[in-house]
Amino acid sequence: MDWAARRSAVQRYRAGEILRLRKAKNPKPHNQAKKNYAKTSGYTHLTIDDRRKLISEIADKVSKWDFAVLFFEAIDKLHFDENRTGRTVGDQAFEQVVSRFEQFLTRQGDPKIHGLLVHDNNETVAKKHTALMRRFHEEGTIWAKIHHINETPLFVDSKLTRMVQIADLCSYAIRRFVENSENTLLESILTRADTVDRVAVGARHYTSLNCTCLICNAHTPWGKKKNIRKAL
Ligand SMILES: [Zn+2]
Repeated sequence: MDWAARRSAVQRYRAGEILRLRKAKNPKPHNQAKKNYAKTSGYTHLTIDDRRKLISEIADKVSKWDFAVLFFEAIDKLHFDENRTGRTVGDQAFEQVVSRFEQFLTRQGDPKIHGLLVHDNNETVAKKHTALMRRFHEEGTIWAKIHHINETPLFVDSKLTRMVQIADLCSYAIRRFVENSENTLLESILTRADTVDRVAVGARHYTSLNCTCLICNAHTPWGKKKNIRKAL
């Protein structure tokens, strides 16, 4: 099947599915299908194998970008107590990534160097992260005073911004690894994690102290139990 034929066959199938779900009178699967179909409409000319291959080729490309540095926090909700930490999973992850970025910029040893956070635009998150960044500037994060990151994040439309799409691909790779144990994409992008003395300081998996996965081994090669979990 060529691209045009596949796109048209998928559109026909999807239209049928939407109709079937609408008739079932259960709004949830109907709305979910509409949302999924809208988000993937640009790729319907590709088979699932084509799509996987594309993602894997991009991840491979990113792995060779020696000018790119990756920071991330993957939190296992089963091991994160919002009441104890006094912050939500989202706030915790944001604070961790901001701290790591700040530490990276500080290590460059030039006070004139500044970093800018670029976010996918989402009204709720935009307000929240702008307020959090103001607080970090006033009080610092748990881990660092902020001197090298501009106060207000830049919010962009990810559909128009390729580097945000690349960040999304990295998030996808991390998610597929921690939730589905799929190594391949993660192995590619993990090579870009901020690394000091062969320790991937920019990447962390917040989970059980017994975890010895790729991320945990890269972040704490000496074993997580020796790390003190202060004020997390
Ligand atoms: Zn782990």
